[in-house]
Formats: sequence, C-alpha cells, structure tokens
Amino acid sequence: MSSIRFEESSVFNQLASFEHQQVVFCHDEDTGLKAIIAIHNTVLGPALGGTRMWSYETEAEALYDVLRLSKAMTYKAAITGLNLGGGKAVIIGDSRNDKTEVLMRRFGRFIENLNGSFITTQDVGTSPKDMEFIRMETKYVTGVPEVLGGAGDLSPVTAKGVYMGIKASVKELFGTDSLAGRSVAVQGTGHVGEHLVNLLRIENAKVYVSDISQERMIKVAKKYGAEVVNNNSLFDIDFDVYAPCALGATVNPETINKMKCAIIAGSANNQLADEKRDGQLLLDKGILFAPDYLINAGGLINCYSELEGYSKKRTMQMAEKIYDATLQVLKKSKQESIPTNIAADKIAEKRIQDIKKIKSSF
Ligand code: NAD
Repeated sequence: MSSIRFEESSVFNQLASFEHQQVVFCHDEDTGLKAIIAIHNTVLGPALGGTRMWSYETEAEALYDVLRLSKAMTYKAAITGLNLGGGKAVIIGDSRNDKTEVLMRRFGRFIENLNGSFITTQDVGTSPKDMEFIRMETKYVTGVPEVLGGAGDLSPVTAKGVYMGIKASVKELFGTDSLAGRSVAVQGTGHVGEHLVNLLRIENAKVYVSDISQERMIKVAKKYGAEVVNNNSLFDIDFDVYAPCALGATVNPETINKMKCAIIAGSANNQLADEKRDGQLLLDKGILFAPDYLINAGGLINCYSELEGYSKKRTMQMAEKIYDATLQVLKKSKQESIPTNIAADKIAEKRIQDIKKIKSSF
C-alpha cells in the first residue's frame, strides 16, 4: 500500500486520501478518555484491529497513526484471505499512568455502539487484562485471556506463519522447501523469535540468533542449538535467510548494501524503512522479500479464530495457508517484475474489488 505522508491537511482531506469509511472520535470527560477509532474498509467483513495506547505529542499525530495503521489492517486481512476488514483504535494517554478500569470500559461502550462494525484486540500499550475490561461492555473484542475463553498468546501462530513464509520463499528460490542445511539469521529472540527458532531447528536449519538482550539471545541459542551473533555484525555473516523479528525499518539502503542473504522473511512490522524505495532496491539486488504484513498475519488469524470459536488445530491450519499466499505473491512479482510488497498490495486490492462486486449484486 502506498505510504501517505502526513501533511497539515484537514481531517476530511486525510480521510479521503486514506479512503476511510468512518472515523469515530471518542471523548469522555469523567474518565478522561480521548480515543479515535478508524474503520478503513468493511467490504470483506467487520473491521478488526488492535487498540494502541500511546502518549501522542499532538492529536494530529494520533489521527495520522490510526489512519495509517487501520489501512494496513485492511490489506493484511485481505491478503490472508480472511473475511475481515481493516480498523484500528488509538487511546491518547500514558498506558502506565492513565489506564483505569473505567477508562477501558468506557472505551468498550464506544465499541459496542458501533454494533460490530469494529472489533478490537490488544496492541502496543494494551494488554489481555484491558481486553477483559472491554469485554465487560461489548462482545466485539478478542485477545482476552485464555481462562476467559480467549485464544491466549498469539506468538506461536505468528511464528508458524513466518515459518511458512520462509519455506515458500526457499521453495521459490531453490526449488525445494526443505530447510535442512539452509541458514537463517533470526534477529530478535522474543516471543515470536523464540518459537521461530524452534520450528527452524526442528527442521535442521542452521540458525544464527541476535538480540540486544544478551541474556535472551544466549538462553534461546542454548535451548535450541543456535549460534549467537553480535547484533551489530549480523550482516557480516553469510546466511540464506534474514528473519527480522525485533523492530521495523531494519531494511534500508544502508543495510541492503551490506546484505548477502537471498531472502528476507520475518515477523517485524514495517521492515522496509521506505516501502517504495526499499522494495525496489531489493528487487534490483535480487533479494527476495516475503512481505511482512502477509507472513506475520498469524496474530490476526488467531483473533479471527477466536471470533469463530477457537480451535488451536484449525488456527494452525489457517496459518499454514500463508505458504500458498506467499507463493502467489512471489509469482506475481516475478511475472510483472514488480517488488513483492507491491505485488502483495495488488492482490489484496483485487480481492477487495472482486468481493465488492459480488456484494453489490445482492
Ligand atoms: P518481543 O518484544 O517479545 O521480542 C522482541 C525481541 O527483540 C526482544 O527480545 C528484544 O530484546 C529484541 N530487540 C529489540 N530491539 C532489538 C534490536 N535493535 N536488535 C535486535 N533485537 C532487538 O516481540 P514479539 O512479540 O516477539 O514481536 C516481534 C516483532 O514481530 C515485533 O516487531 C512485532 O510488532 C511483530 N509482530 C508480532 C506478533 C506477535 O504475535 N507477537 C504479530 C505480528 C507482528
């Protein structure tokens, strides 16, 4: 999806440029709630997206963030084949000091009033406990704790999707999807990174791990038999696959210049510092990029499953479909000589357009 630069334009101009369906400003004097719910597109289904709580410097910054993130959710759901639209919410405030039960429950009432066109889950600054408070006011929430019938930790499903994305990329490039003997560098050994290292080692891949936390990196390396690499010298090493599982924007002209890998496939959101520029740079250099928003969609799949009545087995099977979806993107990229991130956007947009036509015929 094209990145739209934030400019000092009117609210309605911004909504028009991002093509939003509805944006709801939620304000409550008693609880101090200031939130924005952005529903980008509901052609495929109700808009699902996390609620982020952040101390935005300005309200304009909060609006820009929610518009940008909700649009990205539309693409993620569409490419993953889910019957969900894209949405997101932001609560303006400090999640450590400003969060209270009544604030979250008041926010839940705003969601309830949207009658199911927006469903939320946790995100930066919100937790399963917050989802529990929201659940007290509305059923349109996922990511509640396991003991309350929720799906629990998303990261095993996310790791499974990333693993399938890596396998599909290896298949495209080397003709077989076996990872035995292939080398993968996993940057970030947190929730997703650790599960990914496990899956890779089960298949006898050679795994390098790096993390800014020495403790985590060493623990994960020892547990699964991986090799530790200093985070600053990661690109000095030869490996087949770079799996960014820490932060975004690690793929930029400076790092691309150093990269010797054949594939980039990891869980981090927004891996390309500049989508247009860096997608093209990777294409030019012949590095295959498995679009992050597709292969890290396991978390969204998990939420979708929770809505449908959670089954771990079915959720994992859905995450496995990321393999075929990745192959489809890579094929389109090759056929049209376009960066893989653009190919993914086109497939997502086409699915929305196609389904829109079906719906208009009723
Ligand atoms: P996490 O916080 O559990 O783990 C992140 C790890 O990265 C930590 O061990 C941290 O020390 C390390 N790290 C931070 N900065 C680093 C740096 N500069 N270099 C190397 N390591 C660094 O997070 P997570 O839940 O495992 O998620 C990892 C990434 O995947 C994030 O970008 C997240 O947005 C994305 N993601 C996660 C999920 C999910 O299900 N958890 C779903 C979709 C996307």
